[in-house]
Amino acid sequence: MNPFIELGIRHDIVNAISELGFENPTPIQEQSIPVLLTGSNDFVGLAQTGTGKTAAFGLPLLELLDFEENHPQALILCPTRELCLQITNDIKNYSKKMGNVNVVAVYGGASISDQLRQIRRGVQIVVATPGRMLDIINRKAIDFSKVKFVVLDEADEMLNMGFQEDIDSILSTTPEEKKTWLFSATMPAEVRRIAKKYMNEPFELTMGTKNTGNINIEHEYYIVRARDKYAAFKRIVDFNPDIFGIVFCRTKIETQDIAEALIKDGYNADSLHGDLSQQQRDKVMKRYRERSLQLLIATDVAARGIDVNDVTHVINYSLPDELENYTHRSGRTARAGKTGVSISIINAKELGKIRQIERGLGKKFVKAEIPTGFDVCEKQLFSIVHKIHDVEVNETQIEQYLPRIMEEFKELTKEDFIKRFASIEFNRFLEYYKNAPDLNAPVEEGRFDRDRGERGERGERPGRSGDFGGKSEYTRLFINLGSVDEFNRGDLLGYICNNAKISGRTVGKIDVKGVYSFFEVPHADTEKVMESFKGIEFKGREVRIEVSGEGTSHSRSDGGERREGGYNRSGGGERREGGYNRSGGGERREGGHRGSPNPNSAGGFRDFSGKRREDRPERRRRF
Ligand code: AMP
Repeated sequence: MNPFIELGIRHDIVNAISELGFENPTPIQEQSIPVLLTGSNDFVGLAQTGTGKTAAFGLPLLELLDFEENHPQALILCPTRELCLQITNDIKNYSKKMGNVNVVAVYGGASISDQLRQIRRGVQIVVATPGRMLDIINRKAIDFSKVKFVVLDEADEMLNMGFQEDIDSILSTTPEEKKTWLFSATMPAEVRRIAKKYMNEPFELTMGTKNTGNINIEHEYYIVRARDKYAAFKRIVDFNPDIFGIVFCRTKIETQDIAEALIKDGYNADSLHGDLSQQQRDKVMKRYRERSLQLLIATDVAARGIDVNDVTHVINYSLPDELENYTHRSGRTARAGKTGVSISIINAKELGKIRQIERGLGKKFVKAEIPTGFDVCEKQLFSIVHKIHDVEVNETQIEQYLPRIMEEFKELTKEDFIKRFASIEFNRFLEYYKNAPDLNAPVEEGRFDRDRGERGERGERPGRSGDFGGKSEYTRLFINLGSVDEFNRGDLLGYICNNAKISGRTVGKIDVKGVYSFFEVPHADTEKVMESFKGIEFKGREVRIEVSGEGTSHSRSDGGERREGGYNRSGGGERREGGYNRSGGGERREGGHRGSPNPNSAGGFRDFSGKRREDRPERRRRF
């Protein structure tokens, strides 16, 4: 028998959740559903999101409410709009085979009149953030006098966000005899207090041991000099070609800066922070969910409640000030039974904070080494090899081109061909990491070398374009000519100067690659140089010049091209002859972000077993 049926859930709901892939209840569902189905208890569940708690309370609600009646019977309060929409959507999915289930999402930042209209039409379940809910109550636009169940989801978060008073006011409009179900990732004294205030001998369920982390999250830290932080971060990303991560910064400005630098460097990244309008945030989240973005750079507040499955890494670009925030951050990964890694990139001075977090979570962090350039290249190479191996071939579409392709390659042995194919991407990494320095900062535990401190380490990074923090006076241009066309740097310089009628001294760095190259010209000359190549051919082939890097709309929307070793992702950049076509490869999965270098984590500490979920101590702690 289906285990959900055994728990007491009816067939039409079980059919719907089976379609969502729920085969077996998660531990919290297994333990809470039978209790909640009685409908006669207040309830406190200590559990994180990602454990299946929405269904843990959502399924019993669907069993307990009377859907013949069209008035509010359940009110679910949660801290964020994200979570509000998520819960609403989940409940709609669970109930899609039932008749007349009406759920409304009530949250700020969206049209209140739409929400009022839905309420007027008749709803049984209201999912709301406290501020907007109170607004609607104050307008006397909703009647909670027949509410049977109130769910306080992520209660600790709601209190952290200062919703205590709003919650008090909202609950005062609901009947005394209703049952209250409270879920919280942690049980600080404030949550205890509200549990006591609103509940009568609640049934308490603790999933996992207090103050221990989610069993599936492994925590790593890397110690780098402050000035190497961004480079180290990119190595970590590059060492994980399939990363799908959330990167946490402390301030909006830092968030924005990192995102911009990453975009410029060709990663599929964007930022999420409080200065964006709701619409902009929705757009970013949509792209992240759809995986058009590989890296989401976020502040703590903006990322609250983000519930995206399959996040592989959380990266603490800056450590949070509070232990609670670390827990929330790392809880964005390893959801729904998956595994995940929470990485902190720190300087030697911050080691003390790591030790504090370790103590808070009761869990040891692994000190990882920033991978060498060689490690990154190797990792990327095999990632490419696996992609080539696993790529799905569209036999019918490719067939017409095969004779010509075969003709082009007829001189090559299989071995040569394979080498070239793998090198297309690999060369960029080799080039970028050619002289990559060791980015690990030497550290002696318990001692901080002043000379290595954050100060004096700041400074501009070398290189004039693309490096985070530095402003370039040059525009980096892509050209679809390279060493295969028998250009070396001198040749290319001559060729450019001749065509563009500019002095060789004005041209900046030139990177000659295989089938394409990059060169820099002063911003002021960019237009002129680009114009001068219009209609120019080289050996019967049209010469293409593109701006490589920030600024162009495509670079934002699909991640832009990579600075180092990039080729242009927008479609204009790929080479026709002997080239490969990027289109399609542009969106994440296949190397979504391309290009830059990156690193590893000394392998091996993925296999981690131990305790249960992420949690923290009784009260908020400042480091
Ligand atoms: P939640 O903790 O409610 O945010 O759930 C986290 C994720 O786990 C969501 O994507 C759910 O769809 C998924 N999930 C919840 N319960 C189950 C289950 N019994 N089997 C498989 N996936 C589940």
